[in-house]
Amino acid sequence: MINIEELSITFSTFHGKVHVLDKVSLSVNRREILAIVGESGSGKSVTAYSILGLLDKNAEISNGHIYFDEEDLTKLSPNKIQKYRGKRIGMVFQEPMSALHPTMRIGDQLVNVIKRHRKLSKKDAYPIMLDMLKDVHFDNPEDIAKKYPHQLSGGMRQRIVIALAMSGQPELLIADEPTTALDVTIQAEILNLIKELVQKHNTAVLLITHDLGVVKEVGDRVCVMYGGNIMESGSVDQIFESPRHPYTKALLSALP
Ligand code: ADP
Ligand code: MG
Repeated sequence: MINIEELSITFSTFHGKVHVLDKVSLSVNRREILAIVGESGSGKSVTAYSILGLLDKNAEISNGHIYFDEEDLTKLSPNKIQKYRGKRIGMVFQEPMSALHPTMRIGDQLVNVIKRHRKLSKKDAYPIMLDMLKDVHFDNPEDIAKKYPHQLSGGMRQRIVIALAMSGQPELLIADEPTTALDVTIQAEILNLIKELVQKHNTAVLLITHDLGVVKEVGDRVCVMYGGNIMESGSVDQIFESPRHPYTKALLSALP
């Protein structure tokens, strides 16, 4: 579904040009969870932003292609990529507050997005909104719908963001460090929720993390990234059982 071919990205900075991705190739197939794992600064988020058309203005795609089905996203105008974002490609980032409107009730935020994606009236979107809140494990959706983001915990907010991301029934979900900002005690719950939802809706996932524990928990395949390169990729079992690259071995040996 997503096929990235030899993608290179350069940033223009005060100090000159910086190469942050060097011929990165990867693909995500339908109904698959592909994890990208790597240390901070290795280029994971830049890869995600490039698919979403959200690269900073000082970034330049100097080589390669990003195919979403047949369409090369690197050739689309920002306006056209926007049509993919949210609707066909859902996104969840590290900090849930960044995806929420701080002064709008949760129910209204969800209803607005459902209306837009599915071209429904407010009245028809309302029961779907309640179902979506149930899907992300709120058993009191009417109460939650009336709340504002600041009235919820971080984990609850991330569950709302996941509901928002899934509301367009996307084919691909990009989750960039979705549990990094959350308490350790609720990280597994959020990961399992993502896994459960994408299975239910046949959504493919690009899951970005610095944590191999997360990969083990939910990934099907994994790409190990370092310094803007993919060092190694394979099934999660393969990487855990017989890593080939020294960097992967080092990552594994650092696991608790
Ligand atoms: P991570 O793997 O932690 O998500 P990123 O993809 O955010 O890493 O960043 C990869 C590299 O690109 C880092 O070295 C970072 O400093 C650099 N970078 C990211 N955004 C910019 C920018 N707007 N301008 C210059 N350099 C950037
Ligand atoms: Mg990042």
